[in-house]
Amino acid sequence: MNTIIIGSGPAGYTAAIYAARADLNPVIYTGLEPGGQLTTTTEVDNFPGYPNGVDGPTMMNELKEQAERFGTKVKIDFISKVDFSKERGGVHKLYTQNGDEIRSKTVIISTGASAKYLGLPSEKRLIGGGVSACAVCDGFFYKNQDVAIVGGGDTAIEEATYLAKICSKVSMLVRKDHFRASKAMQNRLANFDNIEVLFNHEIEEVIGESVVEGIKIKNNLNSEVSVLKITGLFIAIGHTPNTDIFKGLVEMDDSGYIITDKTSTKTNIHGVFAAGDVQDKDYRQAVTAAGTGCMAALDAERYLQEV
Ligand code: NDP
Repeated sequence: MNTIIIGSGPAGYTAAIYAARADLNPVIYTGLEPGGQLTTTTEVDNFPGYPNGVDGPTMMNELKEQAERFGTKVKIDFISKVDFSKERGGVHKLYTQNGDEIRSKTVIISTGASAKYLGLPSEKRLIGGGVSACAVCDGFFYKNQDVAIVGGGDTAIEEATYLAKICSKVSMLVRKDHFRASKAMQNRLANFDNIEVLFNHEIEEVIGESVVEGIKIKNNLNSEVSVLKITGLFIAIGHTPNTDIFKGLVEMDDSGYIITDKTSTKTNIHGVFAAGDVQDKDYRQAVTAAGTGCMAALDAERYLQEV
């Protein structure tokens, strides 16, 4: 085969559209969550070309149809192991969860990242009903309402300031007595008088049956429990890139994100490219993922012409 794409978010399907139109006959392996993270989002209002917004699953279905229209084969299967060739022009081997071996000259890794959650049953029940891991995607739905955000890193502050421009009040719950975020990021908080930072606070329970009505929070210094009335809860405690099967093979940073060449999607392995959240911890948007998916297909096409 010419091109295998692992992962079916906006990066994977955009790579597939471009690779298929370049006659590379791509095969995309969807992974365990066909369509990726966007299938867990309700309304997507920030993807260009949808003036009235679109719900995440519909958008991913349309991307899939577009990729199939040009001949992409979509396999609802999971790649569980890879054996990459070190030779330029070499053939890479990939194995499905049933042990089937697939061979391909180029591989595009678009396995994405998964948002970390707190792990509370009440939180899980209310994902999509007021619990979200993406302020930029879902913040707008809480216009002029009170919300809370969990986390003390750069993402939490960035998202808190984003929310503060839309919402009436933002309560930030930080489990330690200090932020993990950079000083520069912390300084941004001074510009907002509707962000309240609650250090040493953790969530015990998210209140509400089908929509969030509040959170039960605990001060971990004095064990005092109180209730905060909110309609939206944003979890910003980090993401985990889905790169386990590539560990020790493809160069990654300390957090497990794949390192790509500065101006392309090339990894340290000939013929292996990475696109989307799996190589991007800063932007993490559907449109940026789609952009790098396009780049990866063009990079694969050029590579195949050269070898
Ligand atoms: P981080 O891992 O940096 O921070 C995670 C935060 O969540 C920490 O405050 C951590 O607390 C807290 N946390 C983790 N687990 C829990 C839990 N179970 N309950 C409560 N709190 C929890 O992740 P980020 O997503 O913030 O950042 C990831 C990377 O991306 C960083 O390198 C960051 O610098 C970068 N980034 C840069 C930006 C920029 O420069 N514009 C914007 C966004 C991200 P604790 O400290 O106690 O462990």
